[in-house]
Amino acid sequence: MPRFRAILDTMPAYKPGKAVVSPDGRSYKLSSNESPFGPLPSVVEAIGRAATEINRYPDPGAVRLTEALAERYGVPYDHIALGAGSVAVAQQILEAAGEPGAEVLYAWRSFEAYPLLVGLSGATPVEVPLRDETHDLDAMADAVTPRTRVIFVCNPNNPTGTANRTEELTRFLDRVPESVTVILDEAYREYVRDADVPDGLTLYRERPNVAVLRTFSKAYGLAGLRVGYLIGHEPVAAAVRKTLLPFAVNHLAQAAAIASLQAEDELQERVETVIKERTRVREALLAQGWTVPPTEANFVWLRLGERTMEFAGKCAEVGVAVRPFDGEGARISIGDSEANDVFLAAAEAFRPSLGED
Ligand SMILES: *Cc1c(COP(=O)(O)O)cnc(C)c1O
Repeated sequence: MPRFRAILDTMPAYKPGKAVVSPDGRSYKLSSNESPFGPLPSVVEAIGRAATEINRYPDPGAVRLTEALAERYGVPYDHIALGAGSVAVAQQILEAAGEPGAEVLYAWRSFEAYPLLVGLSGATPVEVPLRDETHDLDAMADAVTPRTRVIFVCNPNNPTGTANRTEELTRFLDRVPESVTVILDEAYREYVRDADVPDGLTLYRERPNVAVLRTFSKAYGLAGLRVGYLIGHEPVAAAVRKTLLPFAVNHLAQAAAIASLQAEDELQERVETVIKERTRVREALLAQGWTVPPTEANFVWLRLGERTMEFAGKCAEVGVAVRPFDGEGARISIGDSEANDVFLAAAEAFRPSLGED
């Protein structure tokens, strides 16, 4: 038998998700926090132009995209590092910092990729339970040890949508030693409207060990192309650049990301549309009697406990795919208004069976 690392035995094999289709042929994907909008015409055009050049390798340094990002955020060029999606950037950080004996800290439940990536890196995952469906930053600071190398803070948190505010976050960062890299995973930053939730870029500027992780997959609608990036000080960004698989960020992805940065006004309108729908969906759920944590992301969280899989099944019957976490709850992405209406009807039909809280 070929031999592999023992950690692989603990990792689930990939199971392709079944397509969720109602008996009358309807299908609404509210399971992956994607943008409900198709790509912008200007972005499709840029991809079309780039497609005529794909006999060549992509620019390994993604110079034009890096320049565009540096200008967009007013940060030095050397503070930016790219990857094939921000999940890949997270893996690059762990490749750079993780090894047996090292600890990587994150809240739980949070982004599903963290335990997998930490396990693969050889480091030890340290999970700190959420409090009120929100990062318990005081408990996370308490959990730091001399072995801690990296801390992920997912703000807003996937899958609960909750966000940590400036005061508690700065108090937390003040307690973390500078030898520990703190990754503020801001995959949903564009959807944040609470003025007390800090832009990670203001926190990173004063702190050499704090870096921000962003993606083109969510608000920018490029999930299928795979581009994400880190903004951090030179040692952190350099570590992420060194662990980039050569040519990982492909030519079409680079072209589409640049075109998207040039179309920010149009994308911003789309984000506003999603945010209006988010408010409508959450208020409708509250009116139905659900408890819904405040969300700063493009999804809502329903705590369903033992009824989670049953609820996901009821949604599937009407063609709505949600993301269930067995025994805990379900995450439902905000889609277009039709998809949201179909979901709300399914939630309304299910709610009475839960009884009073
Ligand atoms: C969706 C998501 C990402 C983005 O993943 P990509 O690899 O950029 O598509 C990163 N972090 C969190 C918390 C997410 O939910």
